[in-house]
Amino acid sequence: MYGLCKECRQPNTSKNHESEWCKPCITKHFQQNFKNWTSGNHEVDEFIQITQLIGRDPYEALEWIECDRFKNIEYLAKEGVELFINTIWKDGYIEDLDYENKQWKRITEMKVALKLFT
Ligand SMILES: [Zn+2]
Repeated sequence: MYGLCKECRQPNTSKNHESEWCKPCITKHFQQNFKNWTSGNHEVDEFIQITQLIGRDPYEALEWIECDRFKNIEYLAKEGVELFINTIWKDGYIEDLDYENKQWKRITEMKVALKLFT
């Protein structure tokens, strides 16, 4: 119904899926990357990993993002323990898989607003 997966050549049965990869192949890429990041907190890591395994599309998954992946940080306000900032996420969210490089294809440079707990 959605064509063949670009990687495993199996029918792509994912619903609302614009990716050329099937759900198992996307899940596999997330799993292979588990060893490459950590929040430093086992429970947080596990929570993020679960969102990566159950999401239908890559952009439904949460990701751990290191501070150095942000630039042009602009402090907006501080209210109690909350600090509000505008910044640019250098990588941007995952759009799809890049077949040739076997990496995520990202939108690159994306403006985001963050709330930090200090
Ligand atoms: Zn596949």
